[in-house]
Amino acid sequence: MKQILLEAEDVKAYYKLGRIFVKAVDGVTLEIFEDEVVGVVGESGCGKTTLSNVLFMNVLKPLILIGGRIVLKVNGVPNEISSLTRDEVKKRFWGKEISIIPQSAMNALMPTIKIESYIKHLAESHRIPEKQLLSKARERFQEVGLDPVWLKRYPFELSGGMKQRAVIAIATILNPKLLIADEPTSALDVVNQKVFLKVLMKLKRHNVIKSILFITHDIATVRQIADRMIIMYAGKIVEISPIEKILERPLHPYSQGLLNSVLTPEPEVKKRGIVVVPGTPPNLIDPPSGCRFHPRCVHVMKICEKEEPILKEIEPGRKVACFLYAEERT
Ligand code: SF4
Repeated sequence: MKQILLEAEDVKAYYKLGRIFVKAVDGVTLEIFEDEVVGVVGESGCGKTTLSNVLFMNVLKPLILIGGRIVLKVNGVPNEISSLTRDEVKKRFWGKEISIIPQSAMNALMPTIKIESYIKHLAESHRIPEKQLLSKARERFQEVGLDPVWLKRYPFELSGGMKQRAVIAIATILNPKLLIADEPTSALDVVNQKVFLKVLMKLKRHNVIKSILFITHDIATVRQIADRMIIMYAGKIVEISPIEKILERPLHPYSQGLLNSVLTPEPEVKKRGIVVVPGTPPNLIDPPSGCRFHPRCVHVMKICEKEEPILKEIEPGRKVACFLYAEERT
């Protein structure tokens, strides 16, 4: 049986803007197992990026962790990282156990700071001899298809695709068990997207990283690399499923709309025909009552406006939050 690497239970994280709360992540429960790739998919503004930061415990104001638990297992020992401060988590787990490629990471590299300076900084903060980490960086650069000579260069000298490979080399330099990648390919052209995904999966095959949480709006990418898919809508998870099952038969009406609205239809979607989800995502300051998808759902029932459906398992490995499946297995 696969071991759990990270689990989140009823996690709520809101942005506090004066007296207003934006409920970006609102009661998320999930598990990430060892040796798997999980794709998190949903429309812009559904809380994917906030979720990635919260699971990494990179919680900075105005984002506040309101409730829930996040547990990171290190050599089988559970560590409740949600009860620690950001600095404690950073010191004890970042880089070694869990790492992140944040959204637009390649643009975060300062154009006037040499790439090797980031490695030196990591060596200092993790108290690793600089020489040792620079030697590892040279190896890692080769693994990601970059000449180690680029370590001595400035980010502005690298192309977008090269910068993103430099970012993944830096993010994985300490062989983290879990890598969270937030839209890592969205700023790349198609050729560089393919190169990046190949590099990512090579690092996983070589056991540099054990598991990946891949945040994206690109279903075709998730289809290529993921074992499971998580669908988010308005700050909540509405469906979790093995990839082949959800592509064949998405259960939640939002999943059906999302998967059937892709511009380059997957073979399974081609059979069903392209469908567009009517309406727009809700305002997370004052989300709809009951099921948050009810104003856009073609199957809406009376109960959907009043009660919130819980995410429940209806087949092994498949969970859905929708009253259409209320009678099915719990
Ligand atoms: Fe639609 Fe109701 Fe299911 Fe929500 S709970 S997705 S409104 S059928």
